[in-house]
Amino acid sequence: MDCPICKNAMITLELADVEIDHCTDCGGIWLDAGELELLLGDAEQAKKLLDSFKIDSKCTEKRRKCPICLKKMQKIIVGPSTPTLLIDKCRRGDGLWLDKGELQDILNRAQLDKDNKIQKLLADMFGTEQGN
Ligand SMILES: [Zn+2]
Ligand SMILES: [Zn+2]
Repeated sequence: MDCPICKNAMITLELADVEIDHCTDCGGIWLDAGELELLLGDAEQAKKLLDSFKIDSKCTEKRRKCPICLKKMQKIIVGPSTPTLLIDKCRRGDGLWLDKGELQDILNRAQLDKDNKIQKLLADMFGTEQGN
């Protein structure tokens, strides 16, 4: 699968038994449908977060193409907290595109207060090595 931004092939990473696609150039992450829920682990928190997604039809940010169906994705506001977090979502539901740092941001907003396993994994995986 190619990165929607750099067009380079992404690598597959395993994060808490969930396979995610990661672009080592721009640091973006592609999550197939259902993978965000798996990463969140908690079905109730996941539902709350997904229910907070709002389509931003007026967004002027450049629209990216879905790496699977190659159609332009929708901008989604992950609400309601500020500052506004915008992510890209395939209209057909193939999955979500997250720019560098946005997965961490989403997990922060989901208020996973239990053990933060994913947060730690992300920090280990991307924390200090990003930008090389
Ligand atoms: Zn990229
Ligand atoms: Zn798609």
